[in-house]
Amino acid sequence: MHGVKTVLVTGGAGYIGSHACKALRANGYTPITYDNLSTGWRDAVKFGPFVQGDLADREKLDRVFSEYRPQAVLHFAALSQVGESFEKPGLYWRNNVVGSLTLIEAAVAAGCLDFVFSSTCATYGDQDNVVLDENSPQHPANSYGSSKRAIEEILRDFRQTEGLKTVIFRYFNVAGADPETEVGEFHQPETHLIPVVLDVIRGRRPELVINGTDYDTPDGTCVRDYVHVMDLVEAHVLGLKWLEGGKPSRVFNLGTGHGFSVREVVDQCGLVTNRPVPFREGPRRVGDCSVLVSGSERAKTELGWAPRRSTLPEMISDAWKWHLDGHYEA
Ligand code: UDP
Repeated sequence: MHGVKTVLVTGGAGYIGSHACKALRANGYTPITYDNLSTGWRDAVKFGPFVQGDLADREKLDRVFSEYRPQAVLHFAALSQVGESFEKPGLYWRNNVVGSLTLIEAAVAAGCLDFVFSSTCATYGDQDNVVLDENSPQHPANSYGSSKRAIEEILRDFRQTEGLKTVIFRYFNVAGADPETEVGEFHQPETHLIPVVLDVIRGRRPELVINGTDYDTPDGTCVRDYVHVMDLVEAHVLGLKWLEGGKPSRVFNLGTGHGFSVREVVDQCGLVTNRPVPFREGPRRVGDCSVLVSGSERAKTELGWAPRRSTLPEMISDAWKWHLDGHYEA
């Protein structure tokens, strides 16, 4: 349709992708969700058409590109659990890397050259407590991070030879939910810290296990930089406009620059919900880095990104609201 800006959103039925679809819709785009529902939810697709399909299915991708003629791709679809990636590297390389290569080739063949990619701070790996900016070397410590770094390299090659234009976002730890509870975070099984703590608080799990208390950090637990999912997806809209405006391919970290330890997050969850959090101290989780904090201002200065909700209390209270009010049919 003339005048309607259509965007292909892989992983649009997942946590971050579904919030991105809401933000796209609010900004005048029509998001086409392409998702195999392996970890996403049909109920989360609320803001545009849905096509159930796999990244590895080139024929289906070709059909979607020719039917909807998207002007850009936002590529969220991926397996994203650090622990699982350590146990099943083949799964991560095949799904994330081979799947993304298939998608990139389909996009190029369709002449859809604006490509926004969800990468991760896990591509940096452990770097002795330095703050990480976009020029920091990438030494991923697990297959999840390696698979994302490999996709960044594929994108680089396709930029050079096929004219692909890319915005790569390296996310730090994404948290919170849509404050209107239309969409939220729902993984099965859930492994991420804040939703796990909220499950414990609601009595859905007996206790939290803190994964390691002997890290070289102020309180011995891992430090992460948490960013609100609503702020994160706003950056994607800005990234899309960046490419629409003919700006050069660019990498942006998305984090706040402030690190919080696991213990600080747990304490804050107790304060926000006014409930106790039963926990015990367990061993380290294989593949975890001690500190991942973004040192970058680039997204703010160049994209004009202004995170508004990324305080720990706000992320936890929005996640809590979703825990209490929202749900998808499993
Ligand atoms: N974590 C924990 N107990 C849990 C879940 C997570 O101690 O039940 C820790 C995890 O080991 C890491 C931090 O919380 O140090 C953030 O983990 P999450 O899985 O949320 O995100 P990641 O940093 O792995 O992307």
